[in-house]
Amino acid sequence: MSKQSGSPRSDANIPASAGLAHDGWSSEDQATATCYCGQVQLIVPLKSPGLVFTFACHCTDCRKITASMFATNFTTLESHTHFARGQDNLTIFSQKETTTSGGSMTNGFCKTCGTLMYRAGSSFPGQYFLRVGTVDDMRLHETVLKPGVEAYTDDRVEWLGCIEGARQLEKQMKGQKPGL
Ligand SMILES: [Zn+2]
Ligand SMILES: [Zn+2]
Repeated sequence: MSKQSGSPRSDANIPASAGLAHDGWSSEDQATATCYCGQVQLIVPLKSPGLVFTFACHCTDCRKITASMFATNFTTLESHTHFARGQDNLTIFSQKETTTSGGSMTNGFCKTCGTLMYRAGSSFPGQYFLRVGTVDDMRLHETVLKPGVEAYTDDRVEWLGCIEGARQLEKQMKGQKPGL
């Protein structure tokens, strides 16, 4: 079995208004995830084992760090996640005061535009917590990367309904806690 990924899809759904980069692509196995200004680009896996799981998180930490009401995340293995460019254009911010595990959570932001490109927790070695919204092919937001789980539903704002088909967890996922 070849490990070669498929060719980039010419019919990938990448709206021109979604950020400044226009070189995003997707294939059967991988896709690009790019920051708003385009200087940082990741190549992320779309299949197991590289793609671990997808989840929306309503926790207060996610609200604050996304400046929104919830985060849409997917977890990948570090070994299957690569930088196409811009690793040196990240600001790394790490803290452990707001994690329930007591471990540190590291955040990688684009230095230029501020997009949060990844989180990595010391309690989850070898994994990245990535943001669905950074993935360039927006069709994937509806399909492969649709949240399979909603975490911290206790913290969900009252005006927001649940995601159809997503497993509801009042708190974190047992044994596989999302990146808080
Ligand atoms: Zn940027
Ligand atoms: Zn969270």
